[in-house]
Amino acid sequence: MQAVSSDIYRGRFAPSPTGPLHFGSLVGALASYLDARSKQGVWLVRIEDIDPLREVTGAADSILRTLEAHGLQWDESVIYQSQRLSSYTELLGQLLASGHAYPCPCSRKELSARQGRHLDACRLRQTPPDAEYAYRFAVTDAEYSFHDLIQGIVPYHLHGELDDFVIRRKEGFFSYQLAVVCDDLAQDISHIIRGSDLLDSTPLQYQMYKALGKESPQVGHFPVVVDASGAKLSKQNLAPGLDNRQIMSNLRAAAAALLIANAELAQAETPQELLPQLTLNWSRDKIHGLRSVPLPDITGASSA
Ligand code: GLU
Repeated sequence: MQAVSSDIYRGRFAPSPTGPLHFGSLVGALASYLDARSKQGVWLVRIEDIDPLREVTGAADSILRTLEAHGLQWDESVIYQSQRLSSYTELLGQLLASGHAYPCPCSRKELSARQGRHLDACRLRQTPPDAEYAYRFAVTDAEYSFHDLIQGIVPYHLHGELDDFVIRRKEGFFSYQLAVVCDDLAQDISHIIRGSDLLDSTPLQYQMYKALGKESPQVGHFPVVVDASGAKLSKQNLAPGLDNRQIMSNLRAAAAALLIANAELAQAETPQELLPQLTLNWSRDKIHGLRSVPLPDITGASSA
């Protein structure tokens, strides 16, 4: 798959406001920020508040204030996915019109009982089903690989019908996959730096770019931070929000998680001093091929 080759670097950090910013998300924000800044690029923040059922009131503001407190200042206005529904509707219309999407009433349970095969050959249906339905993207069979800026060559195997994924749910909500592609296109994103937990989404999103006749951004998946049991730090497993009273140790620990050597960074006393040094020391190669890193000692990192 051909990726965008423009020299204008536009990157983004795209948190879902399901809770306050925790250490794992700070690592994500920092990785995408440093990658953009090291290429003299533009860095944007987009709030992915597409799923009202998972959203926590006040989380979006708290995430933005925490980013600012850590010196991670974005370059253009923040975009909120909840305000972009007309663009998602339009994109869904395009995919339907070109035969890349179809309505599907099948439940997950029915599909798994039939190894992913649809009850009434949903893809071929001429009229909308009687029951409530979702919209799915029609995946093309593909056994391929893509070049990841951090992971290297990543092989994947997609099966038409079996891997057709939901782009608008039965309840009427658009899915992450559709919204993220729509917004990355609208914001002209050239580089996506995100956690390795989203590696499997990339081939799906590439198929949507192709269906829309667009070039896809370049992607790099950094290693996610895992706890002692090997689980990714996340809002779901109750990772605590960051303590804004220990900004420098948070940033140093996040830099350690990205394997940025700490020795030269000890003198910095503010994020404004530290971030340019981190930018100089950031290297995709140091984390090449790593899917996860252990949680560093957040409190102890301030003395490094
Ligand atoms: N909103 C997604 C998340 O918080 C990130 C999506 C992306 O970077 O593509 O996990």
